[in-house]
Amino acid sequence: MVENRLKGLGVTKKIGIGKAVKLTDSGVVIHKTRITDTEAEVCKFYKVRDLFIEETENLFKDLSQKLDNNEVALIIQSHIAIVNDSQFEEDIKTQIVENKMCLVWAVDVVCSSYIKMFSQIDNEVLSQRALDFEDIRNRLAVIINGNEKSSDNRITISVPNAVLVVKELHPSMTARMDATELLGIVVENGGETSHAAILAKALGIPTVLGVKGACELIEEGDTVVVDGDSGEVIVRPSQEQLKVSDEKRTHLIDSEKELTVYKDKETCTKDGVSVSLYANIGSEEEAVRVNEFNPDGIGLFRTEFLFMNGNNMPIMEEQLLAYKNAVLASGERILTIRTLDIGGDKEVPYLGLEREVNPFLGLRGIRLCLEKEAMFREQIEAILRASAYGCGNVRIMIPLVTNIEEIRAVKGIISSVKETLNATHTAYDENIKVGIMIETPAAVIMADAFAGEVDFFSIGTNDLTQYTMVVDRGNEKVAHLFDTFSPAVLRAIKHVVSVADAAGIEVSMCGEAAADAAMIPVLLGLGLRKFSVASSLILETRRNIASWDVESAIEIATKIMSETSVEEIRRYGSDL
Ligand code: PEP
Ligand code: MG
Repeated sequence: MVENRLKGLGVTKKIGIGKAVKLTDSGVVIHKTRITDTEAEVCKFYKVRDLFIEETENLFKDLSQKLDNNEVALIIQSHIAIVNDSQFEEDIKTQIVENKMCLVWAVDVVCSSYIKMFSQIDNEVLSQRALDFEDIRNRLAVIINGNEKSSDNRITISVPNAVLVVKELHPSMTARMDATELLGIVVENGGETSHAAILAKALGIPTVLGVKGACELIEEGDTVVVDGDSGEVIVRPSQEQLKVSDEKRTHLIDSEKELTVYKDKETCTKDGVSVSLYANIGSEEEAVRVNEFNPDGIGLFRTEFLFMNGNNMPIMEEQLLAYKNAVLASGERILTIRTLDIGGDKEVPYLGLEREVNPFLGLRGIRLCLEKEAMFREQIEAILRASAYGCGNVRIMIPLVTNIEEIRAVKGIISSVKETLNATHTAYDENIKVGIMIETPAAVIMADAFAGEVDFFSIGTNDLTQYTMVVDRGNEKVAHLFDTFSPAVLRAIKHVVSVADAAGIEVSMCGEAAADAAMIPVLLGLGLRKFSVASSLILETRRNIASWDVESAIEIATKIMSETSVEEIRRYGSDL
């Protein structure tokens, strides 16, 4: 009997059971149907081609205005030449007329043959052509599926009760996904703290990552059980397996319901020590939704998803509206807006950034923003103007800081944007607080110096673990080495908390470790009193914090900090 269970990393404590929908890597659905009316399908091709050309021309105009690098814009324009090419047109027509393929299938087959051909050529320039055809295929498919311009850029899963099966879950895919009908996500690659996983968690969709062989074993339409708790994926389950999974699903739903009593409670330890519990959000809409869980504010607003949602950079006014809505949703509570953190696994194709050999060590986070200063200034302006709608509660947070010059450069830009706002008598919060993410070993080591420059720290354990342990956070091959309980990471956290306390500046934690049940007593014991977690984990974290008193937390932290082996620490943790 063929084993129908696959194993991966579960990232949401939920089970979903549904029908498999497979997406290409780009997030585009290729539904393969045989058609009878070939003439109508050929006509559809011409209409779609016209829409594609119109959209590409607009894209070209936008890019030429926004990018210094005109070459990228020219590449985009060359896509028009490709779809207009008579050979391309003939190839598509042949698949439709002779093989009775529907248009999206024909486009996929034709483009795939060009992708294959060009990627085999041992010439850098020509092999790049493969990427052009990938792009063309995806954009044509989006237009065909929606029969509309792809500019709204959302991925709609039209099949009810769908389980999405993909090789890679790009962050932009999760950001663009209309997830209302989605019961689960199975991803062949990816680690727990990859940005795609963070978004899946925020959406509360049962998700399992790093499921080797998933795309091969799972066929379109198969029934699939996605156990985001155990990390198990069951393909074409037997009646018995379905029954067991369904019982577990009901049980998990019941436990989630039990958590609702924590909705209106204050966050504090068993012995009554007050703790601030903030939310991590990725959109203005989430700033509204999260109020249901009554957080003390937003500890991290990942603004990059605003930039990844569309085909164009959001202009200042669009950003202002998004931030303003988040400010209004936050009332008097803290709202920490993190400036653009792209690069690494978060790509924004329209920026036309060059591919890097080591993107996580490359032009990412604040480095990119300082390089693209005009873009950064627009974001700062939008945040400052949005702060006028708050009550001194809006804060700016800078990602991936490694040296003091970056902090000073950012502060210089903020001052200069303030001056331009003053010149036009535009309102903003003059005393807006500026803080940094502590998520690189350099920032940990320099924490005492950085404390003199900023108003607050937020520890980003996802990147801090990645960079301290030299483990790619999205790579399942080394996922076993990605452990925030590693003594090196724990010592880094301890150091940052004590430096911040000594300097009298606020320190919180917004990495995924802040919501880890086993980590919570350690963090409390180290003196951390501000936690920022995915909105779907607020109630669970509130309950976990309430189950510890500070004295026992200190005891646990002291014991754990005396250990030098991660295995010993884990063993001790599991005995608690
Ligand atoms: C982190 O690195 O821990 C963090 C919170 O930021 P992000 O996950 O967005 O990189
Ligand atoms: Mg980070």
